[in-house]
Amino acid sequence: GNRLPVIDLWVDPVDMEGALERVRQFVENGDRPHCIFAVNPEKNFSVPANPLLYETFKNADLLIPDGIGVVMAARILHHATLSRVPGVELMERICKLAAEKKYRIFIYGAKEEVNRKAVEILMERYPGIRITGRANGYVKDGQMSELIQKINDSNAEILFLALGSPMQEKWYSDYKDSLKTIRVCQGIGGTLDAITG
Ligand code: UDP
Repeated sequence: GNRLPVIDLWVDPVDMEGALERVRQFVENGDRPHCIFAVNPEKNFSVPANPLLYETFKNADLLIPDGIGVVMAARILHHATLSRVPGVELMERICKLAAEKKYRIFIYGAKEEVNRKAVEILMERYPGIRITGRANGYVKDGQMSELIQKINDSNAEILFLALGSPMQEKWYSDYKDSLKTIRVCQGIGGTLDAITG
């Protein structure tokens, strides 16, 4: 058959420190949610075929070079030297920053047990961290307004969305305008499962 073009994504040329600086700016200077998504050709290959998802990625505030595939593509296509910013590592660095700066965090996604245990582990690992709310990722559509209320009541500036891709990106696109206190929202996929082992 005919060969098909499949990679049609973007990435921001940031390293870990640059990404963290953006996070700090989003929280300190922002008055709206900013989203951070991971770019990974092997995971995001279905994005261009879905117009809503395509727009959500295109309009993302920060697209991190999560995987080696995007680092290699940037080198080949643009002669750009990027270093990987794995989403899982950025999440941990955001937790450290949040503990220092007293930013509040809400963690939404993964199974109830995984979510609960991940919160416990993060609280041990980052003394002083303020995780002011959490919810598992199996909230039914009819209970979504309750969840939004819970997120708003938590007064969190940071939201980790752990629903997997592309579900988390779609959720962000659907609900970002209802988030009152969130300034940074990172899509972290299956990271909570990794943290809890
Ligand atoms: N998940 C969820 N709600 C759903 C479906 C999935 O919270 O309705 C969670 C699931 O428990 C897992 C994560 O989303 O923690 C998906 O992980 P995966 O590694 O597949 O995502 P990726 O990192 O590849 O985006």
